[in-house]
Amino acid sequence: MQYQAVIGLEVHVQLLTNTKIFCGCSTKFGASPNSQTCPVCLGMPGALPVLNKKVVEYAIRAGLATNCSIAQRSVFARKNYFYPDLPKGYQISQFELPICVNGHLDIEVDGKVKRIGITRIHMEEDAGKLVHGDVPGLGQGSGVDLNRACTPLLEVVSEPDIRSADEAVAYLKKLHQIVVYLGICDGNMEEGSFRCDANVSVMPVGSDKFGTRTETKNVNSFRFVKQAIEHEIERQIEVIEEGGRIVQETRLFDPNTGTTRSMRGKEEAHDYRYFPDPDLVPLVISADWVEDARLSLPELPEAKRARYLAELGLTAYDAEVLTASRELAEYFEACTALYPQAKSVANWVMGELTRALNEDGKGIADSRVTPQLLVDLLELIDKGTISGKIAKTVFDEMYKTGKAPAAIVAEKGLVQVSDTGEIERIIDQIMAANAGQVEEFRGGKEKVFGFFVGQVMRASKGKANPALVNEILLKKLKG
Ligand code: ADP
Ligand code: MG
Ligand code: ZN
Repeated sequence: MQYQAVIGLEVHVQLLTNTKIFCGCSTKFGASPNSQTCPVCLGMPGALPVLNKKVVEYAIRAGLATNCSIAQRSVFARKNYFYPDLPKGYQISQFELPICVNGHLDIEVDGKVKRIGITRIHMEEDAGKLVHGDVPGLGQGSGVDLNRACTPLLEVVSEPDIRSADEAVAYLKKLHQIVVYLGICDGNMEEGSFRCDANVSVMPVGSDKFGTRTETKNVNSFRFVKQAIEHEIERQIEVIEEGGRIVQETRLFDPNTGTTRSMRGKEEAHDYRYFPDPDLVPLVISADWVEDARLSLPELPEAKRARYLAELGLTAYDAEVLTASRELAEYFEACTALYPQAKSVANWVMGELTRALNEDGKGIADSRVTPQLLVDLLELIDKGTISGKIAKTVFDEMYKTGKAPAAIVAEKGLVQVSDTGEIERIIDQIMAANAGQVEEFRGGKEKVFGFFVGQVMRASKGKANPALVNEILLKKLKG
């Protein structure tokens, strides 16, 4: 029997607001336990939540960027369950009427484009965190840190349209790129700012009836998502092949073994006794607000890539690399605004600059080479002041010091030699010193030409204009 996997993803996106979703406490990461709390996020009786407008703004942006409809009216609901990191005994979320519905993202896997539906996006608060072991200020034991309680999250729920681990990763990467471009999430997966629950089931190929799903919780890297899904597909097929049945349950991924294990039976929605939160009025969003948000959206990676192909004549590969992050794309565009030869800019940004930054473990934001400096360097090449090869030396110096390329060229005496008289003099010396090779060339062994070019370039310390060297050398060798 052949099996087909069916996958739906629920992604939690932690929003980059300064304050929490229902109170004014700071959301800053890493503060000492419970230092960022107040009666609202501590769940004190009588404390009332007040919705953070920025959270709504960010949710609208996320919805628009994923082709959702923005609900004119949405409602916050209480999701009731007991856990020590949730002092109120319920989480404020959205249930029947979420803020965004009916979206989609187009992903590309193996050269084929596929549309993945987005069922809904809703806003909710995060819970606190339990700390076990050596608890600061308490010694050995277990403590509760409520700094994270009430931190704003979006939950993005996909349709069960995904059919493989690779499709799941492509969808996640695309969503990740969008929320980071939008500036609504820092995208830090290790710190849990972008984490995924993977729902997986299998069914016989050709069937239209989905199998029973399991949900693997809080997987926090693209690699782990791939491993977790692949393992879960394999496991489920094995269970079925052995005559067993899949039970609907929540599972945990163990990065050390690459496997998943059962955590608890799956709750149904009715177990949570959802009901509208009476402390929060229904949220009404005007058409104007949505329109303003639409106008303020940045150009998204997909649109950028299309533009780079159509208007700048770049390859699909270049466009992909240059739009990988918004900072890189903006850097690239700042360069092309000053210097319209996009392909040369692309080569330098993707080549020397990226290499240097990678070696340093730095991002484009830390680069001392500003767009203006990079463009100054390209113009020195165009003017013939330096050769492309010397430009790399100048670049390295510029990368280290942030000095202007013209200053570096002057300081280090790197100006290209384009004086034909001087080049001829060097060539004559080299030919005289290598009479044997000159004879070989004249006898038909044209390969020694490269040897002569190398010798001349070395003698000029790389400064001779390569085009002139080639031209004059050929003339003289031919005699
Ligand atoms: P819950 O809150 O119970 O997890 P949701 O409706 O929020 O339920 O999310 C369910 C997720 O599971 C969605 O992403 C959906 O696409 C996915 N899903 C539903 N049925 C299946 C199935 N049979 N196989 C795989 N994924 C599924
Ligand atoms: Mg779920
Ligand atoms: Zn608070």
